[in-house]
Amino acid sequence: MASSPSKRVLLTGGAGFIGCWLTRRLLEKHPDWQLTNLDLLAYAGNLENLRDVADLPNYKFVQGDITDAKLVAQLMADTDIVINCAAQTHVDRSISGPTVFVHTNVLGTQILLEAARQNTIEKFVQISTDEVYGSIGDHTNRSESFNETSPIRPSSPYSASKSGADLLALGYHHTYGLPVCITRCSNNYGPNQYPEKLIPLFILNALADKAVPVYGDGLNVRDWIHVADHAEAVCRVVEDGRPGEVYNIGSNNERTNLEITKMILGILNKPESLIEYVTDRPGHDRRYAIDSSKIKKELNWQATRNFENSLKETVLWYQNNTQWVDGVKQRQSAMAV
Ligand code: NAD
Repeated sequence: MASSPSKRVLLTGGAGFIGCWLTRRLLEKHPDWQLTNLDLLAYAGNLENLRDVADLPNYKFVQGDITDAKLVAQLMADTDIVINCAAQTHVDRSISGPTVFVHTNVLGTQILLEAARQNTIEKFVQISTDEVYGSIGDHTNRSESFNETSPIRPSSPYSASKSGADLLALGYHHTYGLPVCITRCSNNYGPNQYPEKLIPLFILNALADKAVPVYGDGLNVRDWIHVADHAEAVCRVVEDGRPGEVYNIGSNNERTNLEITKMILGILNKPESLIEYVTDRPGHDRRYAIDSSKIKKELNWQATRNFENSLKETVLWYQNNTQWVDGVKQRQSAMAV
């Protein structure tokens, strides 16, 4: 008889960008854990992202919706640890259609929390974002950053929905004692990211000699972290994070959008004339900056990737993985019909 796994993990959104990196990292670090990936396969979900783990005996994929309370309750009955990575994630889409963001990010999280409360869950890790804190400073004033006690001041329907989920998670901790941890990470980049987000979109446009659309003056500042560093940080929180705590995850790598754009064009040896300045996103936050000293101190984590090298590797990945890119494009056109 096979021995029982030491932990049973329910990861949601594992077919997305961060979820697939987290899946691989968890299975690599904890080969004795049993991981169930619940993913709706919404437009950004892609089973190709998980091809290398799909046949592992301790990995199971379930296609389903985190707002399906019955399914979630069934899965939760066999779960020790929940990691909620499933979400609607693109700010622009949240501006044109906020309803699905509230449905997925707020209601979906509450359904998971409620099912977790009905069972003996060891830990519930809510994957959140630095965007919940809102904007601080600008490209000329980079002295301040948010820590975990800073107030939540989201600007977009996306960040507001993520904030709602964070508050519900903390509410379930304070009211019911649910062992919740929240992670708030800065902008991720790396292979497998759906090409609507800045870095993969600009790489693919530039490769096709198409314009790269930069919002406003291009001087909005973001802290960029490689997705592998984020995945490792989440693992540390899963392993040793203290219930009721929030952990910021950042890499002290602030760049303006224009700087990133020029770096991508430079790597691909494409002219800067491909840059097209377009009307700014409504409510576009000027700068995000977080202080991640807490996770460094408490959980001994820090980002290890060098940005210049990892950006080059990322560009190469999109250049070389034409099958992945073509698959995404085919699904995009099928969904548009
Ligand atoms: P993504 O859009 O690539 O993936 C989201 C995944 O969630 C997809 O696989 C999708 O199919 C799934 N999903 C959507 N609705 C679902 C539902 N109702 N039920 C089940 N699955 C559903 O997103 P990502 O960039 O990997 O982000 C993952 C998480 O990390 C999100 O919670 C996001 O807010 C957070 N985050 C992202 C970043 C970033 O830079 N990408 C930064 C900080 C935090």
